[in-house]
Amino acid sequence: MLKICLIGNPNSGKTTLFNNLTKSNARVGNWPGVTVEKREGTIRRKNKDNVQVVDLPGIYSLSPYTDEEVISRNYLISNQSDVVVNIVDATNLERNLYLTSQILEMDVNIVICLNFMDVVDKQGDYIDVEKLSKKFGVPIIPISALKSRNINKLLEECEKVKDNKRKGTSILNQNSNFNKLLKDVSECCVSQDVPSPCFHAIKFLENDELERKEHPFLERDCRSEIEEFKTTSNIENVEQFIAKSRFKIIENMTIDCIDKSYRPAYSFSDKIDKVFTNKYFGIPIFILIMMLVFQITFAEDFFYIGKIFNIDSVPSLGTYLQGLVEKLFELITGGIESGMTNINAPLWSISLINEGIFGAIGAVLSFLPQVLLLFLFIQILENSGYMSRVAFVFDRLLRSFGLSGKSLVPLISCFGCAVPGIMGTRTIESRKEKIITISLTPFFSCSAKLPIYLAFGSVVAGGVLGGAMVAFLIYFGGIFVAILAAFILNNTKYRGASSSFIMELPSYHIPQFKATSLSVLDELKKFMIRAGTLIACSSLVLWFLMNFNWSYSYIGGLDNGMEQSIIGDIGRLIQPIFVPLGFAKGPEGWKFVVAALTGLVAKEQVVASLELLSSSNYDLLLQSLNSAQIFSFLSFNLLTLPCVAAISAAKAELKTKKDFLFVLFVWSLTSYVCSMFIYSFGSLFEISNNYKYGVLEIICLIVSVVIITTLITLSIVYKNKKTNDDDCNNDDNNSSSGTNKKARCMIGCKHCR
Ligand code: GDP
Ligand code: MG
Repeated sequence: MLKICLIGNPNSGKTTLFNNLTKSNARVGNWPGVTVEKREGTIRRKNKDNVQVVDLPGIYSLSPYTDEEVISRNYLISNQSDVVVNIVDATNLERNLYLTSQILEMDVNIVICLNFMDVVDKQGDYIDVEKLSKKFGVPIIPISALKSRNINKLLEECEKVKDNKRKGTSILNQNSNFNKLLKDVSECCVSQDVPSPCFHAIKFLENDELERKEHPFLERDCRSEIEEFKTTSNIENVEQFIAKSRFKIIENMTIDCIDKSYRPAYSFSDKIDKVFTNKYFGIPIFILIMMLVFQITFAEDFFYIGKIFNIDSVPSLGTYLQGLVEKLFELITGGIESGMTNINAPLWSISLINEGIFGAIGAVLSFLPQVLLLFLFIQILENSGYMSRVAFVFDRLLRSFGLSGKSLVPLISCFGCAVPGIMGTRTIESRKEKIITISLTPFFSCSAKLPIYLAFGSVVAGGVLGGAMVAFLIYFGGIFVAILAAFILNNTKYRGASSSFIMELPSYHIPQFKATSLSVLDELKKFMIRAGTLIACSSLVLWFLMNFNWSYSYIGGLDNGMEQSIIGDIGRLIQPIFVPLGFAKGPEGWKFVVAALTGLVAKEQVVASLELLSSSNYDLLLQSLNSAQIFSFLSFNLLTLPCVAAISAAKAELKTKKDFLFVLFVWSLTSYVCSMFIYSFGSLFEISNNYKYGVLEIICLIVSVVIITTLITLSIVYKNKKTNDDDCNNDDNNSSSGTNKKARCMIGCKHCR
């Protein structure tokens, strides 16, 4: 049986090719000891041997930096396949050939396949495959994994080379001084019976940690050769020399094999993109667009027109619709109440129907128009192709914080709902980056949290800011926290997580009316169903808990009845835990704690619970908090554990219990510390007469500042340590594993080239 393995950069199309080859005959498991996915499959062919295929994890180099790299390297070294199929993204030839140049150094049979040829053709580029193949000395097959082009030819080529005993060669041998050094070190390997001598010799010269550990004799026997090379070539840092030479040689080898002169002139999309994805304008344009969307959806006074011109405020479309829905609910509840009073229905039943059901659901549904409107705008932005640009624009910024645009795509969908967002992290290959991305999902506020911000919009800061501004602040505050958290995680626990981000930007187009309206209708349906089932049920449970005491007698009608109720006792029991966050202070504090905790069921429940717990004094209850307490409450709800649906999605995506518990920890810690900080810091500016900044606030401020600064300082220290190790920007560094970092940077930042 012919055994082949697929190796290449992430996103080069390995999995697409793998699925295409094996159809349904594939097994997915894990590589031993690590949570990196392993795919194995068989190609069954008529009248021919079966072919066994292994899809290796996507990597950029063979230096053992990540789990993925160690796995792929060991797999190749142990020579388990007859043929190594190296998949190269033909649209990014030079970058992909960096890995190829390292595989070529091994004693393995290689077939290179140039994938994405359909895209190359579409762009009007021409690649001289034959010439390239001659230069690299191995067969190269142009394919399109997606369009199933030339796949059989690839298999035929594998069949041809499978019995070759190819010896590794390096493209670096073009430099005569280095070639001599390489020969000496390789011979040293040969004398000790090390297989793939060329590969190991170069890894040793690259200062590869694993190599030095595995073959300590090299250090002992080849020292004088290295010193000699350094003096004759006047080179201080051999490792850096290798990294640079690799890129330079690859560039020289490919330059006359690609012809891009046939590219068509700029298309309409390209022209728009010049502005929308511009280095400087991209992010401000995005912020402006979002500002406009928020104003249309949430503003009580559209762009502050009323205030500016001193006239009646002009409600935005969203606010106007919300008013209509609210009136409708008032009519319904009013009618029911008078109807039930007329027929002398018992007091508890009026309370049950009016407060327990209609009050709670109404509090949620009144925000439906705004939720749908925001959803519609996000859909339009997504379907028009703009959201892909946002991922692209932020990629550059986020990369320095350890996130890539690849994680941004699922994160953006979290603005709708965290569940599909978390499921979308499946496309992220690196385990570390996946954990970081899932940790950030709640910080991208889902639409169910909107009603919470809007409910407080007219209360906070005396209503000066308004709902649109509060929602806007919270949304961008969440993004800010996400960036900070990514930075901390990426530099401490999950170092080196950031992976590549290659994305074909789709052309702009006008969103299809049918598709967009269908998805809005779908959202409407989901929202109504949730309100009618989940929210209604948990509101009923809450209504029961707040109207009955432990001996199950109805105390709802009594003064202070709620204080003596079951939920009153429970609430006061857990209240002290949340006192440092401010919103739990005071006699009514426990109600906010209970409301926030009921948000675990579904985030809309927070507003429904507040409405219930306020016993018809909704506005009064909300106004019992000052602005610092409100922002603390809002940020707690934003940052803390998402609803159970999202939590279980995260559990399903994270393969181990340890990772899952860690993510829960991140959510709890972030929300607690941020809210504590917001409360204690914000209270410094509280000017109302009856407010006093006390010992509690001082302690909270100190504790939260200490925690936040410690985490940030630790991250900066680690980050600097890392960049000292291998900073690709700096040509004069004393790097120890610079090759690797350079490979990474080729993908990340073009300016590093
Ligand atoms: P992997 O990370 O190497 O496993 O890459 P995937 O197989 O997941 O492919 C990454 C993306 O590239 C997917 O969206 C594929 O649909 C797309 N893709 C893969 N091969 C081709 C191809 O030949 N042509 C085009 N146009 N897209 C491709
Ligand atoms: Mg894959």
